Amino acid sequence: MKNVSIWKSSVKQLNHSKLRSDTECDVLIIGGGITGVSTLYHLSSSNLKTILVEQNKIGWSVTGNNTGKLNYLQNDLIDKIRKNYNDEVASLYLKSQIKTINNIVKTIKDKKIDCDLKKVNTYLYTNKESEAIKLMNLRVFLEKNGIKTIKKSLDYIDNKYSFCALDTYVLNPIKLLYGLIRVNDYIYEDTCIRKIIKNQSNFVCYTNECKIRAKWVILASHYPYFNIPFLFPLKASLEKSYISFSKSNINNISLINYSSPFKSFASYKNGLIYLSNNHSSCNKVDESKNFNLLLNDLNKLKLSPLNLWSNIDIMTSDGLPYIGVLKEKMLIGTGYNTWGLTNGFLAGKILSDIILNRNNEYISLFDPNRFNQKIFWGSFINAFKSISGYISGLKMGTYTCPHMGCKLIYNRFEKTWDCPCHGSRFDENGKCISSPSNRDISLKK
Ligand SMILES: Cc1cc2nc3c(=O)[nH]c(=O)nc-3n(C[C@H](O)[C@H](O)[C@H](O)COP(=O)(O)OP(=O)(O)OC[C@H]3O[C@@H](n4cnc5c(N)ncnc54)[C@H](O)[C@@H]3O)c2cc1C
Repeated sequence: MKNVSIWKSSVKQLNHSKLRSDTECDVLIIGGGITGVSTLYHLSSSNLKTILVEQNKIGWSVTGNNTGKLNYLQNDLIDKIRKNYNDEVASLYLKSQIKTINNIVKTIKDKKIDCDLKKVNTYLYTNKESEAIKLMNLRVFLEKNGIKTIKKSLDYIDNKYSFCALDTYVLNPIKLLYGLIRVNDYIYEDTCIRKIIKNQSNFVCYTNECKIRAKWVILASHYPYFNIPFLFPLKASLEKSYISFSKSNINNISLINYSSPFKSFASYKNGLIYLSNNHSSCNKVDESKNFNLLLNDLNKLKLSPLNLWSNIDIMTSDGLPYIGVLKEKMLIGTGYNTWGLTNGFLAGKILSDIILNRNNEYISLFDPNRFNQKIFWGSFINAFKSISGYISGLKMGTYTCPHMGCKLIYNRFEKTWDCPCHGSRFDENGKCISSPSNRDISLKK
């Protein structure tokens, strides 16, 4: 059994060189996940010189560890947005997701990207009687927004109510990123930005070895390593989930549990991706217990895992991503609430439209500096989660995360050291493999 995602184990890694000497550009993109690569792709038709730097390898962080769904039936997220805002805002968010899925599929077809794109029926289901009405209401809302759904029950799993949408997809996210990159793009891997300084007319961004001058900076680094501006630990929390891939002959299907505990299935090639047991990264820090819960589920479903891995994403208090201008000429795209293939691709479009001074109907919807009551109260909860992550780490940790000093917890299944407060991860050699840390740690031999 492999302790890496099915996507990583089925691609040949692209290799880009490290940046070793000073350089200049119009736009510097920090981070080579879906947000960074999509921004690079959307700027490629302009005459701006754009550089993308990645501290590790393209697609190897959160994007390369997800469940590969291109989907607008995003568990209970639409309901959250309706509750926090109103139907109009939820409709606009829904429209953004549908349009983006169509754009991604068109891009894949036009550019002939080989990323194992497969159309699947996505079912949203609940096994709780008490949630069935809510799910029915969500279906009515989707239909009102022009989405065709079909009432269908499921054989595979205990469910009280379920419906499905037909125009949803599963794909290999790393192959998608590779397909979006052009041969003459300026991409540097193993190149980590440690410090950003704003001069009068541009930014100076420092790696360990050199500096890059840029007129615009795009933070596509998932969780930013610095706290000011934006106070990120107060704006978002982290959620961790445990995922597997097993051989199976279930075909053309994707299932998402609308109720908790969150569960998600997707057929991919000759197997099934199965995710269960999500939680705030700041509690239940015993990773062995979490992986064993996943293994118990697989046992009940008579599945034997070939791959096991975990992943962390950023959850926003109001359910909407943060995409747009952070401060003058510094832009950000993050906070996708576990739906980043669509939102990260969309972020690339929005951020490039801002730079190229084009209109985009979603700019104010995702404004990272928006403020509402939900974000205000959420900031207390997020601060509490960060502190409780810090305390639980104290009981178990040996090493300290260079980001904000939280104690790291050893993840025996993936052989990584994980930060329970802000999500940084380090491999067995102490190399940082997930932000916000932008430094490695030294482990005692
Ligand atoms: C369990 C789980 C399942 C999911 N499944 C799905 C799904 O099925 N469909 C879907 O749409 N979404 C899914 N998501 C969400 C999606 O994977 C993420 O929202 C998305 O991949 C985030 O992309 P990103 O570009 O922001 O981050 P990343 O992919 O993490 O990219 C950020 C990059 O920045 C680099 N970086 C960080 N700091 C620096 C620095 N200082 N210098 C240089 N580089 C730096 C990192 O190394 C990293 O490669 C899932 C999430 C989870 C947790």
